[in-house]
Amino acid sequence: MVDLLIVGGGIMGLWAAVMADRAGLNTVLVERDRIGAGASGGVLGALMPYMPDRWDAKKQFQFDALVSLEREIACLEAQTGMSTGYRRSGRLMPLPKPHLRTIALRHEQDALVNWRQGDRRFFWHVQDSPAADGWPENEAMASGVVLDTLAARVDPRLLLALLTTALGQSPRVRIEEGQSLVGLDPATGKARFSDGHSVSFGACILAAGVDTFLHLDGLQDKPAHEVQRRCRQGTGSGAESRYRPSFARHLHGWALCGAA
Ligand SMILES: Cc1cc2nc3c(=O)[nH]c(=O)nc-3n(C[C@H](O)[C@H](O)[C@H](O)COP(=O)(O)OP(=O)(O)OC[C@H]3O[C@@H](n4cnc5c(N)ncnc54)[C@H](O)[C@@H]3O)c2cc1C
Repeated sequence: MVDLLIVGGGIMGLWAAVMADRAGLNTVLVERDRIGAGASGGVLGALMPYMPDRWDAKKQFQFDALVSLEREIACLEAQTGMSTGYRRSGRLMPLPKPHLRTIALRHEQDALVNWRQGDRRFFWHVQDSPAADGWPENEAMASGVVLDTLAARVDPRLLLALLTTALGQSPRVRIEEGQSLVGLDPATGKARFSDGHSVSFGACILAAGVDTFLHLDGLQDKPAHEVQRRCRQGTGSGAESRYRPSFARHLHGWALCGAA
């Protein structure tokens, strides 16, 4: 029996495994195909913040994550000797119309209030001069250009490789590729895989990308309190308070939101 089963080897599953490892959980991550086979294995890697206006808990959560990611990646790069191409590059947004400048000036003030953490501050500068000679083109930035200093970039595939390498260094985490989850029973804490083997788990994180919904559909007949009870049991490591799952009612049933 493992403390934690993670289904899916994309960015969500891998980060969850890193956090689980730090919490001392014995973890198995099972991936249907290969690490990065889903959306996370793309090429863009843009780390874009929400607008700094109408601040709420969701925006604060994303802001904290975007700020802390820099340190997290630096630590993992030092640990593995690998690079992810992470850079807080900022983002340019041309303002082709006057009303967009008016909105951008409001956001500039919002960023002064909301984009700060300790002594770190990030800005939504409204500027008139182009970033480089003739770029962006005058026509595109007739009302100026915004430079957001919070946005960053990373190479998604290098980041996945880094996380996989870091996890490979842990005695507590095992990654199995080429196995597909075909059945999940939270009541007994058992998951079945395409090759016929099964895994008993204390808690399970479904990080199977869009396919997660298929598995959640299969759980909809289970009473939510039973799912929750099973997931609270059995991690056996005292980590429950940090990893307590929460549930959100969804249109077609219950969505399990693991707290890793
Ligand atoms: C073209 C494109 C560009 C994007 N650009 C950006 C960007 O610039 N910045 C940004 O922040 N976001 C971007 N996104 C969104 C981002 O890529 C996704 O939100 C993120 O990768 C989702 O990660 P995930 O781990 O939840 O899912 P996925 O990466 O899809 O991982 C799910 C994994 O689960 C596996 N799986 C599925 N079913 C099973 C099963 N039954 N058993 C075992 N394993 C299973 C899959 O094989 C897959 O590897 C982009 C998305 C796309 C499509």
